[in-house]
Amino acid sequence: MQGHKAQGAQGQLDMEGALTARDRVGIQDFVLLDTHTSETAFLGNLKKRFSEDLIYTYIGTLLVSVNPYKELDIYSKKQMDIYMGVNFFELPPHIYALADNAYHTMMAEANNHFILISGESGAGKTEASKKILQYYAVSCPSTTLLDSVRDRMLVSNPVLEAFGNAKTLKNDNSSRFGKYMDIQFDIQGDAVGGHILSYLLEKSRVVHQNHGERNFHIFYQLVEGGEEDLLHQLGLESNCQHYSYLVQDECANVTSINDKNDWKTVRNALSVIDFDESDIQHLFGIIASVLHLGNVQFEADSKGYATLNKNTELRWVSTLLGINVQVLQEGLTYRKIEAKTDEVLSPFTVDHAIYARNALAKAIYGRTFTWLVNKINDSMENKEPSRKTVIGLLDIYGFEVFYVNSFEQFCINYCNEKLQQLFIQLTLKSEQEEYEAEGIGWEPVQFFNNKIICDLVEEKHRGIISVLDEECLRPGEATDFTFLEKLEEKMGSHPHFITHKLSDKKIRKTLDRGDFRLLHYAGEVTYCVVGKVSHGLSLLWSIIHVYLTDKLLGDSTTDPRPSSLLGLTDILMSKEPWYVRCLKSNESKQPGRFDDVLVRHQVKYLGLMEHLRVRRAGFAYRRRYELFLQRYKPLCPATWPHWRGVAAEGVEVLVQHLGYLPDEYKMGRTKIFIRHPRTLFATEDAFEVC
Ligand code: ADP
Ligand code: MG
Repeated sequence: MQGHKAQGAQGQLDMEGALTARDRVGIQDFVLLDTHTSETAFLGNLKKRFSEDLIYTYIGTLLVSVNPYKELDIYSKKQMDIYMGVNFFELPPHIYALADNAYHTMMAEANNHFILISGESGAGKTEASKKILQYYAVSCPSTTLLDSVRDRMLVSNPVLEAFGNAKTLKNDNSSRFGKYMDIQFDIQGDAVGGHILSYLLEKSRVVHQNHGERNFHIFYQLVEGGEEDLLHQLGLESNCQHYSYLVQDECANVTSINDKNDWKTVRNALSVIDFDESDIQHLFGIIASVLHLGNVQFEADSKGYATLNKNTELRWVSTLLGINVQVLQEGLTYRKIEAKTDEVLSPFTVDHAIYARNALAKAIYGRTFTWLVNKINDSMENKEPSRKTVIGLLDIYGFEVFYVNSFEQFCINYCNEKLQQLFIQLTLKSEQEEYEAEGIGWEPVQFFNNKIICDLVEEKHRGIISVLDEECLRPGEATDFTFLEKLEEKMGSHPHFITHKLSDKKIRKTLDRGDFRLLHYAGEVTYCVVGKVSHGLSLLWSIIHVYLTDKLLGDSTTDPRPSSLLGLTDILMSKEPWYVRCLKSNESKQPGRFDDVLVRHQVKYLGLMEHLRVRRAGFAYRRRYELFLQRYKPLCPATWPHWRGVAAEGVEVLVQHLGYLPDEYKMGRTKIFIRHPRTLFATEDAFEVC
């Protein structure tokens, strides 16, 4: 990326414009918000900017983005050029500014970075990660050789979305898997390769969708868009209504989705990422087999056992998967019990047979997805042994708080708690490093450290997971209630753990006997342990286990290489962080509507106020002496029109003249540090008057 310094000068004006025009368009960096501790002021600023189509605002270097639900003219090539190589605060906030700064810092310091993108479903995470990827693809230097790698990285998106995304109530294109993607750069700054880690694909969607939702896009694309020959070979009819896995909720057609066109995009994309005709035949053979499997119906015989009457569909499954039809039939209607030396076949009831059929469909789909990710990784892999640095993109759910919260929310929220802990450690580390580099004494900062909550969950022998683990070792004896009792015994008076029994009268009213409540850093969440989860403790544990290994350790089945054994937090800990927090403006996907209650809820549970507090803990504003002097020199006769000495000394003379108190600022080696925004604003107002 070439620096466009001429743009920089224009940018400087824009930044100043934004500072002075703060009444109209709000403040572009929350750190500079005068009433910084008030959530109302925070929301007011966000809303004011949103009404002007300014969807991006900073908290320091963190980017807050509010989904506008309409196309804004801010993602053109021209816009990309404007942001290239320009200092972070010199232009209005933008996702390109963040992408550009991560890239330039990586190049200058030759280290690894990651961009963590979080927010509720439908908040704009996936769109944000696509925009970052496009920015790198368009603006990095390129050679013809590398163009192919770049194309592959870009087209991997529509392929993964076809197989991993679906229409849900919250989002017509909701990602139903977590994604971490490394973009690798060589020493010249060329994007030379990529690697994807996927985790937690929502396999249950293959066989069941909630009211108003759809199955994964690829099924509809194949059936609606597939060529006649192909459909014929796969034994498929060109009609979604024919497949029971696709019509459970009669919402096959969605106006915002064009399955026929998307099919063409996916077919093209597959050939770009090295899928040959036989790969494609196999891939769609397997997808078709899932649809056929869904149509396999069972009937009860006179003893109530499952039998298969018409088995045309089963024959298709057998042909497409290359499995003997007899073996398949037996597998779906009998359980094999191994007794000492014999094998005994025990027949299934119809319910059991349906369960087995669905389990097979989910397993087939899950493995196909894993295979697909591996194929994409092969095609993006850079085999050169030369030194590379990476920028990782992580697109992850934020805190989830529902009316009833189960262990799924517990795991997602714990994951976010860990990411907050990572943020605290990394931010404090970098603040401390900057203060040291600038020769400024480190002052302890006031903010809430959430380590206490992470420990509550994960501490060995004492944490919630340990207790659950112990209970799982007592099969038959342990129940949801004994688990809760053990928790009460161990946690006792822990300030972040409450149950019905442990709470006082007032709070007790808000809790059921089977609940426990955690006071997360972002707010309180009540989890239901008893009653609603009817499958017993062992299933609970398996859910947690899958979540923790998938979410925090990565899905080891996706990538057999030892690198993937590192936990996600370890992967992130070794890199420099950048943050994008996405907010949903309203529930009905309406352009331009800003729902105060909904946004306030997200600001709370994304921990934005807490984030601001950590950022504001030391000095709100810092600027290189040269830039500070250049802007404010008209305010002091000694520095106007020119200061002939060292910039730092000029700044000292200037701020003395302005009457800064000793506690309000510190002079570092290259920068001035100002504690409160109000000091800066007073200076800025003086500047306007002059
Ligand atoms: P998430 O990944 O957080 O669930 P998405 O990124 O899929 O959400 O966004 C949901 C929808 O919101 C998109 O399909 C798009 O219509 C809209 N959207 C998101 N971000 C933007 C944006 N920056 N500009 C315009 N529309 C957006
Ligand atoms: Mg998404």
